[in-house]
Amino acid sequence: MRYRSTRGASQTWSLMEGFLLGLAPDGGLLVPEHFPRVDEQTLRTWSRYSFAQLCDAIFRLFGLDLDDRVWQRIVADTVVAFDHPEVTPVTQLDDRTAMLELFHGPTYAFKDVALQLMGQLYAHASAHMGARICILGATSGDTGAAAIAGVRGHDAMRICILHPHEKVSRVQRLQMTTVIEENILNLAVRGTFDDCQRIIKDVFRDAQMKQQYALRAVNSINIVRIIAQMVYYAYAFFRVPQPRFVVPTGNFGNALSAFWLRCIGVPIGDIVVATNENDVLATFFREGVYATRTFKTTPSPSMDIQVASNFERYVYHVLDGDGDAIARMMRTFAEDHSLVFDANVRARMAKDFCADAISNARTLHTIEDTYRTRGVLIDPHTACAVAAARAAPIDGHTVVVATAHPAKFGESIEHICPNQPIPERIAALDRLPVSMCVVEATTEAVVREIVPFFSR
Ligand SMILES: *Cc1c(COP(=O)(O)O)cnc(C)c1O
Repeated sequence: MRYRSTRGASQTWSLMEGFLLGLAPDGGLLVPEHFPRVDEQTLRTWSRYSFAQLCDAIFRLFGLDLDDRVWQRIVADTVVAFDHPEVTPVTQLDDRTAMLELFHGPTYAFKDVALQLMGQLYAHASAHMGARICILGATSGDTGAAAIAGVRGHDAMRICILHPHEKVSRVQRLQMTTVIEENILNLAVRGTFDDCQRIIKDVFRDAQMKQQYALRAVNSINIVRIIAQMVYYAYAFFRVPQPRFVVPTGNFGNALSAFWLRCIGVPIGDIVVATNENDVLATFFREGVYATRTFKTTPSPSMDIQVASNFERYVYHVLDGDGDAIARMMRTFAEDHSLVFDANVRARMAKDFCADAISNARTLHTIEDTYRTRGVLIDPHTACAVAAARAAPIDGHTVVVATAHPAKFGESIEHICPNQPIPERIAALDRLPVSMCVVEATTEAVVREIVPFFSR
């Protein structure tokens, strides 16, 4: 199995090469040259598999090129980082609605699933190459915490995460800044998430820096992230009959993983993309127009995204792999901030995804209602999915994807459940020392901090 760029370059990479590469040199994202397919016999075998066994089977299907003993250890170490024996359990919300709980990892959000695995893979790669790996990333909250949790304790790696100063949730900030280890640097940037993102891009454009420190990104959407996330959809598929999946969506990585599971022949039902008021993707799937608009503040900050990086992987799919057309399209988008798709493409999209955008008021109302009627407290991201599921009832079964633990976003739900039980690991954050460095929102200020850190 080889991987190629969405923008048409003829070069291909193996899975592990693609993992280390991140973005393709032409700026595109990596996609498999073709999708592997599973048959009914394989599905029957998979139906008895644990999370770890499914993880192993899916990565092999996607051409895993790693020593078997190393890989088995990596999977085992990933699974034990979760505090639930099933890793991603499926629980019942009501008769026809189940919840796929993705928040049992070290930082209580679904990003732990892929980033625990990626932390292990980076550690192995760095030991194997005998070289230090330096990771640089920007976060609006969850990715930073999950990436830091993924590399802590691995001395051969350095990680620096930029977050917007005073613009992440309290628990998100503490999860990042209370990991006091030599190889971790937290920079709180006096600016917005977009400032952080711009600075990171500047640093990565500096070829000399990139080369000298072997810089790797966690933001650029890594191929391993998408494949790792397919595992829990498969796990849920074998526990709920013909499930429809409703996915709280921001960068479109999680929903794309569900779609790729269908692409390999697992007969899941509809995939519903649920956004918050930042509804660029919902508008795209409903109207065929992809256009950025005014940024809104919402109770679900991890979905406050205007330009969804994984969108390009899906467009590659609906344009039947026409890399030149995608490269042209992305240039147009960079200038006009808007793309319009024709009726043919719109008809295909309608078969692949449904979509809904949930207002702030409906999000909070849904949390309150779910708590009152079901006794289940959900976080504001999951609430967008629950609201979208309720707005479009079906005869069959729905799996709502629960992407974060409610205790992570206490600020927005305090008034609904003032005495929410807080997991011990979150409560303990308040007692830990904090280490972070506040910097101005300029590339120079950030470079001044990261050069000595990465050279140390
Ligand atoms: C990142 C995140 C999302 C959005 O996932 P994407 O893969 O970016 O679409 C949703 N919910 C939570 C809690 C997140 O951290």
